Amino acid sequence: MSVSGKTAIVTGSNSGIGLGVAEELAKAGAKVVLNSFTDRDEDHKLAEELAAKYGTEVRYIAADMSKGDDCRALVEKAGGCDILVNNAGIQHVAAIDEFPAEKWDAIIAINLSSSFHTIAAALPGMREKGWGRVVNIASAHGLTASPYKSAYVAAKHGIVGLTKTVALETAEQPITCNAICPGYVLTPLVEAQIPDTMKKYDMSRDDVVRNVLLERQPSKEFATTEQIGGTVAFLCSPAAEQITGTTISIDGGWTAL
Ligand code: NAD
Repeated sequence: MSVSGKTAIVTGSNSGIGLGVAEELAKAGAKVVLNSFTDRDEDHKLAEELAAKYGTEVRYIAADMSKGDDCRALVEKAGGCDILVNNAGIQHVAAIDEFPAEKWDAIIAINLSSSFHTIAAALPGMREKGWGRVVNIASAHGLTASPYKSAYVAAKHGIVGLTKTVALETAEQPITCNAICPGYVLTPLVEAQIPDTMKKYDMSRDDVVRNVLLERQPSKEFATTEQIGGTVAFLCSPAAEQITGTTISIDGGWTAL
């Protein structure tokens, strides 16, 4: 079964990895629902541009993934979905004893709890139609830790656990649930960490990229949004029908260390 004509919701898809995934699915003929909480003219325009570029239906639906009701309303407004990609995520870096409690709550809500709500809302429709693919964008930080990223690491490990549980609950149905664990991908989320790190270590941009960001990525290259999108498309292909409850690392060897 191909993704052509399937409805795919990609949360947090007006930039970065989410946008890359949305583009790969649109290219393969899926009807794509873009999402963010911003609801700007340019978000709706982006949907129109992608629809024209790939000759498929692309809609934008605003929903704040930090709110459970919004997450469920996104699935309802989309009319359900065949493919659900939980991608929305934020980051905050601080030592645990200085970590602002509101940042902890926001990261757990957006990076973890949103997936609980969207999956709970999407599964009944997938069961009814007899096909479904859930792909959670976790992180190398879903499998390993780094200092100063307590909330992010906790949320991403949580997503890996949620992935396994949903896979077991859907194992006898034609539904799969997997997590992709990217290493560093050069997106606005990562770009935003560069200036502070340059200042902190008095380093050039190139040194920050190679020796700080990509320190643990043996390939010394960023993964790309196209590679993440291509892996989502693979997980939706017939070759991946028996792949469920697992993680796929796209990290240039990080988790082999
Ligand atoms: P990004 O900042 O480019 O994109 C984040 C997306 O989430 C945006 O579309 C933003 O609008 C959306 N978003 C943020 N808060 C939201 C909210 N409350 N409601 C709805 N949407 C919201 O970041 P990215 O790097 O593309 O990250 C996307 C996902 O990939 C995240 O889950 C992140 O943890 C994960 N990831 C990123 C990297 C990386 O190196 N960039 C590595 C591993 C995992």
